[in-house]
Amino acid sequence: MKSIPQRMCISCRTMQDKKTLLRIVRDKDGAITLDFKGKKAGRGAYVCDNPDCINKCVKKKLLHKVFGCAVPDEVYGYIGNEYKEECKRRHDDDILGDK
Ligand SMILES: [Zn+2]
Repeated sequence: MKSIPQRMCISCRTMQDKKTLLRIVRDKDGAITLDFKGKKAGRGAYVCDNPDCINKCVKKKLLHKVFGCAVPDEVYGYIGNEYKEECKRRHDDDILGDK
């Protein structure tokens, strides 16, 4: 039996399949970036690919707590924009896939 890797969303704090989560990485130099492919090295934080969890992460600045360091506002800006776009893309694909 194959087990599906699961990670916890930092916003709703539930375990989710890794592939339905969006990853944010803090690398060894302390740079925080979005990790669309889930393959960057460094410490990762995960958030569900739905706008509610993304909004909560941005509004409450949850990364600050997870990474234990200051997170620039630009990073939250990127998450709010880019990851919401990414959600839309993913869910558009789901709809197309059902046809
Ligand atoms: Zn969530």
